[in-house]
Amino acid sequence: MSDTGAREFDVIICGAGPAGSTCALALADSGLEVAVLEKNNFPRDKTCGDAVAAYVPKVLATINSSLTRSLEDFTEKVSVNTCRLVAPNQKALDLRFNQTGFISRRIDWDNFLFEKASAQTNTTFFLNHTIRDVRITRDGVIVMAGDTEFKGRLVIGCDGVHSVLNRKITGTRPDPNHHCGAVRAYYSNVSDIQDHTFEIHLVKDLLPGYFWIFPVKNNLANVGLGVLSAVISKRRMDLRSSLQKVVEEIPYISDRFKNAKRIEKIEGFGLPLGSRKVPMSGDRFMLCGDAASLVDPLSGEGIGQAIVSGRYAGWQAKKCFEENNFSAGFMTQYDAQVYQKFWSRHRKNHFIQQLMNREWLLNGVFNAALKSRLIRNVISKSFT
Ligand SMILES: Cc1cc2nc3c(=O)[nH]c(=O)nc-3n(C[C@H](O)[C@H](O)[C@H](O)COP(=O)(O)OP(=O)(O)OC[C@H]3O[C@@H](n4cnc5c(N)ncnc54)[C@H](O)[C@@H]3O)c2cc1C
Repeated sequence: MSDTGAREFDVIICGAGPAGSTCALALADSGLEVAVLEKNNFPRDKTCGDAVAAYVPKVLATINSSLTRSLEDFTEKVSVNTCRLVAPNQKALDLRFNQTGFISRRIDWDNFLFEKASAQTNTTFFLNHTIRDVRITRDGVIVMAGDTEFKGRLVIGCDGVHSVLNRKITGTRPDPNHHCGAVRAYYSNVSDIQDHTFEIHLVKDLLPGYFWIFPVKNNLANVGLGVLSAVISKRRMDLRSSLQKVVEEIPYISDRFKNAKRIEKIEGFGLPLGSRKVPMSGDRFMLCGDAASLVDPLSGEGIGQAIVSGRYAGWQAKKCFEENNFSAGFMTQYDAQVYQKFWSRHRKNHFIQQLMNREWLLNGVFNAALKSRLIRNVISKSFT
């Protein structure tokens, strides 16, 4: 504690979602004192489709091999290795993968990561601490959370789509052409859910977005849809009504919901897409996950990106302390690693997303894919 009553740490991580908890885990053996500031208590939910990419366990294993075993023991998940992709003409492709991903409700999955991170002796979590302000000075950083002032030498913004750090320091604004709106609800008893299969339906009125049915534990399904924000505005869409319409009025889907029951209200949230490059770092700061606009522009996946970027930010933070260099120039090593991992995929998927509002094209591609393994492989690489 400083003379002014401020709490002092080496690194301050804003937000304890997948990016923030992973970043804390990556700093576990660093000898640095880390504070994680989080506005909620845990376990806490986050509006999401709950699908975790197959590469995530491998990424966690590079931080600490014991996480692999813990993840195997983590039972609140449903393994998936097949994507059922349905065209506007209702023809379906089952795309099978060599690797297995999983679907886990975020209230469980984020809590798993939080528990692992909060067990680290160098890390202090401050829950129920809403960040209100972030300032970067010549010598350090000052973060106001609740009524407490936190001081550090480096701040890492993992505070999601409405990141205070992003807003205060980079001033990046959402761009409706690189931003998506999405809603989801949990239903019990949806019929015809195949084992280990998640479903993506390219419904005509939602293009270039899609409707999904993802299986979760206890005979539940995460059901939702996402649409580009520019399209939502142009078509004056109300996504909650759109979801209900799909579930109730499209016969091949509504048949499966005859005995289903929605168990919670429909929740919505934004997704900042990684189809444009935004400032991700600078003097004494880095941004990760949604705060850095890293969501896949086609699939809407952002959990894996949050975990990968959180890990890189943790590793970069260690280097900053080793070399006593917190400059914007040094921090670009972090940007380079993140973009090397995701940029070419996001650019390609942005291109495909732009083609996806052509119903005739999608139907044609599906017809061809049903005959050609090569085309099926290309599709499966884009969507998962
Ligand atoms: C409807 C929907 C469906 C989606 N489906 C999928 C999917 O199936 N698979 C997938 O991979 N991705 C999906 N995503 C994207 C995914 O949810 C995000 O990309 C992911 O959560 C990003 O993780 P994060 O750690 O960067 O941010 P978050 O998970 O948002 O975590 C940010 C943390 O910061 C905290 N915080 C925020 N503001 C403050 C503040 N002022 N003070 C203190 N703490 C703060 C929050 O409470 C939260 O704990 C979906 C998104 C939506 C909206």
